[in-house]
Amino acid sequence: MSSEHTDEAAGSVDFIREKINADNATGKFGGRVQTRFPPEPNGYLHIGHAKSICLNFGIAADYDGVCKLRFDDTNPEAEDQDFVDGIIEDVAWLGFAPDEVVYASDYFDQLYAWAESLIERGLAYVDDQDAETISANRGGFTTPGVDSPWRDRTPEENLALFRGMRDGEFADGEKVLRAKIDMNHENMQMRDPVLYRIRRAHHHRTGDQWIIYPTYDWAHGQSDAIEAVTHSICTLEFDTHRPLYDWCLEHLDLPHETPEQTEFARLNLTHTVTSKRKLKQLVDDGVMSGWDDALMPTLRGVRRRGYPAAAIRAFMDHIGVAKTNSTHDIELLESFIRTELNATALRRMAVLRPLKLIITNWPDGEVDLREAINNPEDDSAGVRQVPFGGALWIEEDDFRLDPPPKYYRLTPGREVRLRAGYFVTATDAATDADGNVTEVYCTYDPATAGGQAPDGRKVKSTIHWVSAAHAIDATVNLYNRLFTDPHPGSGGSDPFDSLNPEAREAVAAKLEPALGDVAPGQVVQFERLGYFAADLDDARVFHRTVGLRDEWANIQKRRQNS
Ligand code: ATP
Ligand code: MG
Repeated sequence: MSSEHTDEAAGSVDFIREKINADNATGKFGGRVQTRFPPEPNGYLHIGHAKSICLNFGIAADYDGVCKLRFDDTNPEAEDQDFVDGIIEDVAWLGFAPDEVVYASDYFDQLYAWAESLIERGLAYVDDQDAETISANRGGFTTPGVDSPWRDRTPEENLALFRGMRDGEFADGEKVLRAKIDMNHENMQMRDPVLYRIRRAHHHRTGDQWIIYPTYDWAHGQSDAIEAVTHSICTLEFDTHRPLYDWCLEHLDLPHETPEQTEFARLNLTHTVTSKRKLKQLVDDGVMSGWDDALMPTLRGVRRRGYPAAAIRAFMDHIGVAKTNSTHDIELLESFIRTELNATALRRMAVLRPLKLIITNWPDGEVDLREAINNPEDDSAGVRQVPFGGALWIEEDDFRLDPPPKYYRLTPGREVRLRAGYFVTATDAATDADGNVTEVYCTYDPATAGGQAPDGRKVKSTIHWVSAAHAIDATVNLYNRLFTDPHPGSGGSDPFDSLNPEAREAVAAKLEPALGDVAPGQVVQFERLGYFAADLDDARVFHRTVGLRDEWANIQKRRQNS
């Protein structure tokens, strides 16, 4: 799928596409464009990953190129097949079809052989120092590193030791392979980075075949090179790794042109954490029912919540690609969700906090079928019949015994319109011992069928309703921000300190009969209330996707005025 903001004629091409255009102009990669999306299968994808997916697959589509889904599976302890399967599913759900699904673990033999070739040329050595010592001896920005006492082992000795590492002669952590670059390099990543470590861990694909595993830095660029990636796009925190990325590739005999790394700003959203580690903690701590909880900012979470994939893609296109990190307002993402759903979602009536309304002059036992429009934005969605009777559910909020000023909904003596129904005038209400309203009584005007009075008299409000005799009972989950702090974890705070204890609320709702036919995952608009997604597993559960109010517009107005 192509993104409008790449339209060159409009001059709005982003800096990555600018670079690709420049490369194509010089014929650098023979006009070829190949990208990849390289998740580590140690968790499910979150909304931040969607940015990278849209970018990598979007670029491949725009340039008639190739984009593969590559699992960066070099840390066997944290990774497993369920995550692999889930990530494949999530990428497809977001609307992208990888040209191929590949695995860094498929390249373990090649990576190993390349490591031996470095050793043979004196460019890598086996170090016996433990992890803490290596880390301490790396030095700092103002202090030089300290050479390992093992740095000057001969290639022959290193080769024998490295093979010994591979063959199980040493314990985990006893030895590592390091690149021999420069312990005083201004870039800390270049101070003899670790390329291989010993880990006796079962790998979800290679099983127990290997006990040494390459590090990210030894696997990533080489995987790019093996696959013939041209533009290796990653997030800004990898910019300090770029010299190392280039160094590794420079010293190898590559099968294709050398790929180039380009960094862009990761997506951050207010009131949200986008870190697999933190999301995993929410699941492990039981704050979430799973990675697919409708409150999770994972792709499986937002899918359950009812976010349309098309709206996520449109949002990513809109925010574009930046070179400096920033945080986008979650309200902006939600406005894209709302815009998409406004165009596509069927309108239905549901009452979330039900209060009984009795029409005292309704003919006993009679049921009327009222015609209601399915989607005013889409004529082809047609109309439906909604049963109407003498006992209805209305929202508790839509009646007040003692109305505050400017309250225009039902109150004794006031006439309102029932959506697609009749005008009704409240006459009286029953209350319990505490004064709470338990039932409201009204009369209806039979001449107002369809919602217009023949004498042209007006009412100030229209409220929704569900026939009590026909209502379907359901549970509706309402959601608020998961974190109360717009920037959870900012200033070194613990993001979990701002977890919102009121992030979810379940209410027992009454639904119109047509809501018995929704498909799993289908999102409908509950009139006047918002957009709600039918749960993927339980047809009697709905999740509030977003409300109807455009909070993004309000935020912009506030900012303009301040
Ligand atoms: P996390 O910190 O959540 O584990 P990660 O970067 O370690 O994220 P990977 O599985 O390694 O997760 O990420 C796969 C790709 O997605 C990488 O290229 C990474 O740069 C990119 N990515 C991850 N998070 C974001 C984000 N918030 N915005 C844009 N791209 C992201
Ligand atoms: Mg990572």
